[in-house]
Amino acid sequence: MKKTALITGILGQDGPYLAKLLLEKDYKVYGLIRRYSNPNFENLEFLGISDRIEYVSGDMTDEASLINIIKLTQPTEVYNLAAQSFVGSSWDQSKLTTEVNSLGVLYILNAIKLFSPLTKFYQASTSEMFGNSSNEGIQTEETSFHPRSPYAIAKLYAYWMTINFKESYGLFCANGILFNHESPIRGKEFVTRKISDGVAKIKLGLSDKIRLGNIDSKRDWGFAGNYVEAMWLMLQQEKADNYIVSTGESHSIKNFLEIAFDHVGISDWEKHVTIDPNFKRPAELHVLQGKSDKAKNVLKWIPKVKFEELVKMMVDADLQRLR
Ligand code: NAP
Repeated sequence: MKKTALITGILGQDGPYLAKLLLEKDYKVYGLIRRYSNPNFENLEFLGISDRIEYVSGDMTDEASLINIIKLTQPTEVYNLAAQSFVGSSWDQSKLTTEVNSLGVLYILNAIKLFSPLTKFYQASTSEMFGNSSNEGIQTEETSFHPRSPYAIAKLYAYWMTINFKESYGLFCANGILFNHESPIRGKEFVTRKISDGVAKIKLGLSDKIRLGNIDSKRDWGFAGNYVEAMWLMLQQEKADNYIVSTGESHSIKNFLEIAFDHVGISDWEKHVTIDPNFKRPAELHVLQGKSDKAKNVLKWIPKVKFEELVKMMVDADLQRLR
């Protein structure tokens, strides 16, 4: 029988890449979208799949809508990618962030438990949960958590609730602890896309400056198109488990800037970057770097796109869009 998947967060960055992968594997894909007067299908259109998804209307803060969707679709797999995912906004909108990122997950887990207990569940957990807990080293599945933002705290609740539903009710519930992953369809508020878009605009004479916060922060950046394969692999295992998905390398925002500007032939990049203290966060995370050996050994997953290639891919896509 044809497998079915419900993806929440279908209009974001990861949703479209995952949907494309599942469609290639002959899944029927349901995508949860919120009620909008004018929904934005741009990311799905970028990947050429907007008309191949069956859209269902719901909201992570509306339990009844999630119950109805689970009852109606009875999916083989649920990928919960929906979130208020911008760490910066989570201080300004901490209640909303908690409702979507924590309670929304509880609602969907309860809906699965009650109406579709054979459904396999994937939760989009995040390296932000580690916070500054292991700044000297590399984070593994055993590293303790010390979340440093309302976003990360809400995600940690969801992480444990996912484990709890597995342990309490025997549901198949997996956490992917994903480190930062980017792509040409990353939201423009995120620093990598802000840079790729800004660099493309500067190259084309449409702008002169990019305003950024702390450019010394280091992150472990991979390619979203690659990371969604790990999500799928997690749900194809005999047993549900938690896996780190990362490249194992970390690079600073400054490195990202250097490569992006160099790629368009601008060497004096500092004169185009303004450090704006307004973009600094109440609590910063300095370094995140993940060890994905478990994903490599068990899932046979490896990160394929290198950092430099990722930066260039993003700048090229923004140049093409703007031209
Ligand atoms: P994204 O681009 O911000 O997409 C998030 C999606 O969630 C959007 O489509 C958004 O819908 C949807 N959403 C937000 N609030 C909702 C609500 N109340 N009800 C229904 N849908 C709602 O995020 P992403 O980069 O694809 O990331 C996917 C998931 O992985 C997120 O949970 C994120 O926190 C997590 N994660 C991401 C990274 C990363 O580096 N990208 C790393 C670790 C974990 P609208 O389009 O309607 O706004």
